[in-house]
Amino acid sequence: MYSKKQHHIRLLSKLPVSNLFNPFYSGRGSVVFMHKIVKDKSDSNRLFLNSANEVTVDYLELLINYLKNKNYRFISLDQLHKELLSKKKSKQKFICFTFDDGYKDNLTLAYPVFKKHNIPFAIYITNCFPNKTASLWWYFIEDILLKNDFVELTVNSKLTSFSSKTKEEKEATFFALRNLFLKANKSQLEYYRKQLEEKYSISEKEYVAREALSWQEISELSKDSLVTIGCHTANHLPLNQLTEEEVVEEIQASKNEIEKHINKEVNHFAYPFGTVSEIGKREVEVVKKLSFFKTATTTRTGNIFSTHKSHLLSLPRIQVLGTWDDFSILNLYLSGVIPAIKNKFKKTVTL
Ligand SMILES: [Zn+2]
Repeated sequence: MYSKKQHHIRLLSKLPVSNLFNPFYSGRGSVVFMHKIVKDKSDSNRLFLNSANEVTVDYLELLINYLKNKNYRFISLDQLHKELLSKKKSKQKFICFTFDDGYKDNLTLAYPVFKKHNIPFAIYITNCFPNKTASLWWYFIEDILLKNDFVELTVNSKLTSFSSKTKEEKEATFFALRNLFLKANKSQLEYYRKQLEEKYSISEKEYVAREALSWQEISELSKDSLVTIGCHTANHLPLNQLTEEEVVEEIQASKNEIEKHINKEVNHFAYPFGTVSEIGKREVEVVKKLSFFKTATTTRTGNIFSTHKSHLLSLPRIQVLGTWDDFSILNLYLSGVIPAIKNKFKKTVTL
């Protein structure tokens, strides 16, 4: 499914459409987001969906140089907030870099690159990362699939066997299990996790221990004025499935705990998952009512326009994918071609 979509995007990137859209749909700039930065992509067995969330450190370096050559300027979330509220409008487009969740490589691999170029960036922390309570089941499942020819799991009291012999089967099974895990409630998740841990002698908790930033590391990063630490809720749950009180608790607990560790106010927020499947008008209203934050970002695709000054708590972003080998697809996003198509030619993507 996703490979067909990727194919269409690749075809589009070969056409000279960017210049047509750029004057109307590129906006004043873009907030881009990533998750993990990795050293290399030498392991070709890695599954597509996980690999897509991992950008190599070399690509990040090339990306910054590419954007510099295109005359972008780089701003922090505070600066973005200030500029959207100001009457003055810079002709030079901006890029605001953000990272979601709080992976350790944001410090070990990304930070040195941003530091070298003196470019600001933000990390939205979900507290279950530094508290090491998060379930990183997508890496756990991937490792099981890569090591086994089939995976057995009891779902709804029925033992189901998923074939994972070939790369195609591994991808398809990963997709099926991912849907199952995404729809599962807390006790179902726990039940699946326990079964897989016992059957395949692999500990799921090791993943968060290895991959997540610690509070000490977050506190160190926060001392650098280039780094903004944002909030991404306590437990990274789909907020539209919670009661209003629970949503408030998820946000308030996260903000309070982060502030306690970094000794600074947290002024920026990213909705977990952040698509229309997990957040809607109610969630944005709750965040508005709390009046904790200067900005809040979603993962809806779009560039930033002046009109977003009235929608500071539901700003769209552009995801930089680890599956891109050049900048042709990125260019389709930043110039506004893909956002325009995705958003039915509406400029201001909100909720
Ligand atoms: Zn996230």
